[in-house]
Amino acid sequence: MSKFDYLIVGAGLFGSVFAYEATQRGKKCLVIDKQNHIAGNIYTENIEGINVHKYGAHIFHTSDKAIWEYVNRFADFNNFINSPIASYKDELYNLPFNMNTFSKMWGIKTPAEAKAIIAGQIANLNIGEPQNLEEQALKLVGTDVYEKLIKGYTQKQWGRPCTELPAFIIKRLPLRFTYDNNYFNDRYQGIAIGGYTQIIEKMLAGSDVKTDTDYFEFIKENPDIAEKTVFTGQIDEFFGYRYGALGYRSVRFENEILDTDNYQGNAVVNFTDKEVPYTRIIEHKHFEFGKQEKTVISREYSAEWQPGIEPYYPINDEANNALYEKYKTLAATRPDVIFGGRLGQYKYYDMDKVIATALSAVDDEFGK
Ligand code: UDP
Repeated sequence: MSKFDYLIVGAGLFGSVFAYEATQRGKKCLVIDKQNHIAGNIYTENIEGINVHKYGAHIFHTSDKAIWEYVNRFADFNNFINSPIASYKDELYNLPFNMNTFSKMWGIKTPAEAKAIIAGQIANLNIGEPQNLEEQALKLVGTDVYEKLIKGYTQKQWGRPCTELPAFIIKRLPLRFTYDNNYFNDRYQGIAIGGYTQIIEKMLAGSDVKTDTDYFEFIKENPDIAEKTVFTGQIDEFFGYRYGALGYRSVRFENEILDTDNYQGNAVVNFTDKEVPYTRIIEHKHFEFGKQEKTVISREYSAEWQPGIEPYYPINDEANNALYEKYKTLAATRPDVIFGGRLGQYKYYDMDKVIATALSAVDDEFGK
């Protein structure tokens, strides 16, 4: 007899939502994670009184009221609005691309002037339906914004030319002809007061949890541990890379504690020229309007994923998506396994989408 109803692999947001909902329905869950902590990539650690986003900035935003109410059951959220600054050589611009950006770039004041400049810049480029990120970006904002704020950053972030990246990535960012620096268009936005780890602690309260536990070793020794598995690791690794490895980008962080109360005056500064080796600097205290005497900053370096390091971003280009479809077909032959999250479903999900897909997996499993 299996000891647990569910073995949940990965103590991140997908696995933890599933564990919470399953335990609410009287199921027994064992949650394992290879890291020495829970919470996956939304893990926050208190350093010098500051909640440090150890795996990169996580700003919760959603337009789905039900998801917003759901996540607010596990933490209070503050009224942080993400308004990153772009640093290009010795120039600073507001993001996302909006009238503040255009006014600084061209010395203009009105939306009509900005639109005329962009139209003039793209008139001779003859871009139809954009086939890649470069065409999409040029079509949206013209050559100046593309060259200064997109090209260098994107090539650092993804390690390949913008012409080889899917257009949808740049459509994540709003483009507005208003003076509005809010990076997101969503109705609801904020940071979990006190960090994100507490959310996962509450979700996992009714489950057994084992960290420092590698699934592939664990399952060899405990093949009958559970009736079903929820797997939130890499789907290609689950199937032994049978059709080859999917592409991922990884990120490396250099964290520093500084003896100043305010290093850069903003939570997120993007470095958009290609000469600066990191993509952004996060100053964590600003996510919670911190008044501590010191500050903690993280420089974010992007890297190609290779076995042994953490994968962060699926590279959803055509070749990888086609390869993923083959793994998905294979996954359909395993009704005892539910695949979820960014790595299990190979999708560039934000936190709200991870919760939504986890809740829909719960519905599939237990009925609405
Ligand atoms: N991007 C850019 N310049 C910036 C910020 C973003 O060109 O200053 C592009 C880049 O291609 C990036 C994409 O927009 O991969 C999506 O950015 P987002 O901030 O959503 O990335 P994430 O926070 O998920 O890393």
